[in-house]
Amino acid sequence: MIVLENYTEGSWKAGRGQGTPLMNPETGEQVASASSEGVDFGSALRFAREKGSRNLQRMTYAERAALLGKIADLLAQNRSGYFEISRANLGGSDADASFDVDGAIYTLKQYAKLGAGLTGRMLVDDAVIPLSKSGAFQAQHYLKPLEGAAVFINAFNFPAWGLWEKAAPALLSGVAVLVKPATPTAWLTQQMVKDVVEAGILPEGAISIVCGSARDLLDHLRENDIVSFTGSAQTAAAIRSHPNVIARSVRFNVEADSLNATILGEDVKPDSELFSLFAAEAAKEMTLKAGQKCTAIRRVIVPRHHADAVVRAVSEKLAAGCGPVVNRAQHSAALDGIEQLKRECEVAFTAESSKPKQSCFVPPTLLLCKEPLRAKAVHEVEVFGPVATLMPYSGVSEAVTLANMGQGSLVASVFSDDPAFLATVSLGIASQHGRIMAVTSAVGKQHTGHGNVVPTCIHGGPGRAGGGEELGGLRALQLYHRRFVVQGPPDLLNAITQS
Ligand code: NAP
Repeated sequence: MIVLENYTEGSWKAGRGQGTPLMNPETGEQVASASSEGVDFGSALRFAREKGSRNLQRMTYAERAALLGKIADLLAQNRSGYFEISRANLGGSDADASFDVDGAIYTLKQYAKLGAGLTGRMLVDDAVIPLSKSGAFQAQHYLKPLEGAAVFINAFNFPAWGLWEKAAPALLSGVAVLVKPATPTAWLTQQMVKDVVEAGILPEGAISIVCGSARDLLDHLRENDIVSFTGSAQTAAAIRSHPNVIARSVRFNVEADSLNATILGEDVKPDSELFSLFAAEAAKEMTLKAGQKCTAIRRVIVPRHHADAVVRAVSEKLAAGCGPVVNRAQHSAALDGIEQLKRECEVAFTAESSKPKQSCFVPPTLLLCKEPLRAKAVHEVEVFGPVATLMPYSGVSEAVTLANMGQGSLVASVFSDDPAFLATVSLGIASQHGRIMAVTSAVGKQHTGHGNVVPTCIHGGPGRAGGGEELGGLRALQLYHRRFVVQGPPDLLNAITQS
């Protein structure tokens, strides 16, 4: 059985004790164990700041971008091994593993490309600002890489992408990374870090990993560190209100859960290509990774007169089933969630299941909430599994109201050929959503996917989605830099800009 060692202060060590078991969700067998007992988080973070970030910041952005390219190549070489770990610890199909592993490699490659064009060791922010009539006194804003460490506390559903979508911009910025993957699926993250460390790609201290509980990690954070968190709103609130995080104003980025919506336009006819695309996307979002995606469609908002047609089209595709959720705890949480939603909904479709009792399969389930404007749970309870609720609307303003009842989401998609409908919905939901994907017949199959986070576009949303922001190309670097302004003579500003 595999014991996941921790890598801190430049060496690998197993945590004390028996550790927490990691399971195979299809067979119920233990596949590995993880323990962080005995890790000195204070020393680990000091090492990351004083060795890792300093070593990285001796290089230019372009040099660090080249390292990201090497990591991407290494991960691509080991891809099939990562798929095996994904199957053993997360279950599911090759498509599920690919979404995570290939998503990670693609994101690293994108940042390698974006960073190759950056020069120098600091970013200049906007133009010089004149502060005197003669020009003898001016101001320039700069972005300087943080001198601390980037701590990633990650969710269980993306052990590969979840690490590298954060590490790519952090390492490109010159900030050392300490990752604490979610314990149930830490194996894949740990294997990737192990491979990168063994290949000697990064300078000493640039990457550390701790598997198992976060224990007293937050007590050791300093003002120049950043915590980038992905997980539940509840854990986010606990970290946000931690006394040391408050006292030192530690930068804290949150990607939490959300009840993402997809909206069908009133103009889309059931026999059209666009209608089929809509139904296919809803079913795909429910079943890919068994619906365990923060961006998955949870609410399907459709014109009232087409509700039956949508139920038929989506159900047909759901009958194919999907992989298991990650463990027994998630299994019972998903079944509990369905029960809560059933108080406001009827079951429009649920797939038959012939899976073994000890496995963690949840049947793909489409619920129908006939009066969604008066319902509460369907806009609040995130069932982290292959489950969505269909909500009929009458008129565009009702569709907008329903989408916004999610109280802040990562993404919404809208399918229509009516430009006025698309514009009204996009602007009506913009302040409550981080990303809006509009699909017309002309876009067709060229769209990148409702739940697919592309590295060149921002990922994050307001309210219950956490209020954070990641990716978005070079915008992501801002999270790992501190902005400051120098007011002074032009010679000084030129010298700093050239440094
Ligand atoms: P979770 O229970 O909140 O755990 C997330 C991470 O926080 C894990 O690494 C966990 O460690 C750690 N943690 C728990 N308590 C902590 C504490 N007191 N101090 C420091 N760290 C602590 O969430 P999850 O069950 O792994 O993930 C599912 C949720 O994440 C879903 O709600 C989903 O919507 C959300 N999610 C959001 C995004 C996004 O990008 N917005 C992406 C994926 C998932 P242990 O595992 O060791 O407990």
